[in-house]
Amino acid sequence: MKVLFVDHSKVFRSVWERMVLHAGHEPLIASDGLTGLRLLDQQDVDFICVSLSLPDIDGIRFTRHVRTMPNARSIPIVLLTSAQDNQTRRRAFEAGATDICPKTGIEDLFNRAARMTSRDDQQLSGRVLYVEDSRTVFKVMTRLMEGMGLTVDHFVSATEAYKKFDDKHHDLVISDILVEGDMSGIALVSQLREQHPDKTRVPILAMSGMDDEIRRVELFRLGINDFITKPVIREEAAARIRNLIVQKQLFDKVQQQRIQLYEMAMTDPLTGLYNRNSLAEFASKITSAANRHDMDLSVVIIDLDHFKQINDEHGHLVGDQALASIGAMLTASCREEDFAVRFGGEEILLILPHCPLDVAEVRARQLRERIEKLRPAGIDVTASLGVSSRPPGRPIILEQLIRLADQAVYEAKSQGRNRVVVHRGLGWSNDPSPRAVSAA
Ligand code: GH3
Ligand code: MG
Ligand code: MG
Ligand code: MG
Repeated sequence: MKVLFVDHSKVFRSVWERMVLHAGHEPLIASDGLTGLRLLDQQDVDFICVSLSLPDIDGIRFTRHVRTMPNARSIPIVLLTSAQDNQTRRRAFEAGATDICPKTGIEDLFNRAARMTSRDDQQLSGRVLYVEDSRTVFKVMTRLMEGMGLTVDHFVSATEAYKKFDDKHHDLVISDILVEGDMSGIALVSQLREQHPDKTRVPILAMSGMDDEIRRVELFRLGINDFITKPVIREEAAARIRNLIVQKQLFDKVQQQRIQLYEMAMTDPLTGLYNRNSLAEFASKITSAANRHDMDLSVVIIDLDHFKQINDEHGHLVGDQALASIGAMLTASCREEDFAVRFGGEEILLILPHCPLDVAEVRARQLRERIEKLRPAGIDVTASLGVSSRPPGRPIILEQLIRLADQAVYEAKSQGRNRVVVHRGLGWSNDPSPRAVSAA
């Protein structure tokens, strides 16, 4: 960036020059106001520091003059003075100064300069849904936003825009308040906020030529995040758009990290299945829903056969690979509502909501066969499976079903492994003992 420094003290000028150069920026130095104005006329400057007292025109007159120059109207100007009385302060702001600072904190001042200017150069990326029926305003705003690196989806009618609004892709909604068609900008704001209460994270910037306070308050109450009055001041619009988008994307990132952390806490890294912690999260929800609505709920426990021996023969690493590919196969065979949990080392628990006992039995048989055929990590692996289910009309807790399925696994092991055993306890029939349904 280019920084113009106007001060009559040679010492200050050289300190400033060195600091600007050191930070890799370009210093422009003037010892009086008129020289400063001439430099501004010739060059594009990003930041101005000017002393209140100068040998020719003072800093306030200098500032007033800068604000009349079309190419310099929006450059931040900091007035340097040790006179911090209210009157000077007011005169400085009225003249158009950005801020007023003592000369002593010159380093802080420089940091601030870097911050204030660098933000404007950085390209953004994002998508804006933009409703505007004036061609002139649309052109100005679109050029502005595209210059910032944004993609603009432009609509003349709010109805069309509303149809195309996509909370996954849009980072900002900008709407004119008076637009052609049945739906006004106000109705659009209201619809977006009412119909999509979970989508409120997409900010809305309203624009209007009618700057009455009551309308503005209404819009803020409806849920807009910012407001711009027309005619648009480009720099103001750019800064507001930038703030809204940066904040929204930061929020998205935090949200994403939160989800990732949650998933990491709930997932077993080796198999990609849910881990045991996650069971506590959803077990009671699933069982209480099943009990309340008298829905089917089945449980399958899969225990790999002789896995200790497999480790001994092929090594623990191969054992790990086998577990990983069985995990992937199970994930692929699960329906949306199923939960596959790595319950123990080589034990996997399947929770199957809305699945009656006979269907669970069929699915368990299929899985037994798939594991046998899978040859994970190139080795033969089989499993013993236990199935249990909630009898209709009978309130249960998940632990009961798990205990029964575990008993069924034990039975499958003692019958020779690589088979499915269904437990018909809990009042399924008069025979409370587990029954083997598929033998190898
Ligand atoms: P059974 O047929 O009776 O179930 O025999 P088993 O050897 O599978 O049963 P046991 O419960 O005695 O041993 C389980 C074995 O599973 C012991 C352990 O080394 C292995 N195991 C548990 N977790 C992992 C793991 O993450 N990776 C590997 N490679 N092996 C594991
Ligand atoms: Mg085991
Ligand atoms: Mg075992
Ligand atoms: Mg085992």
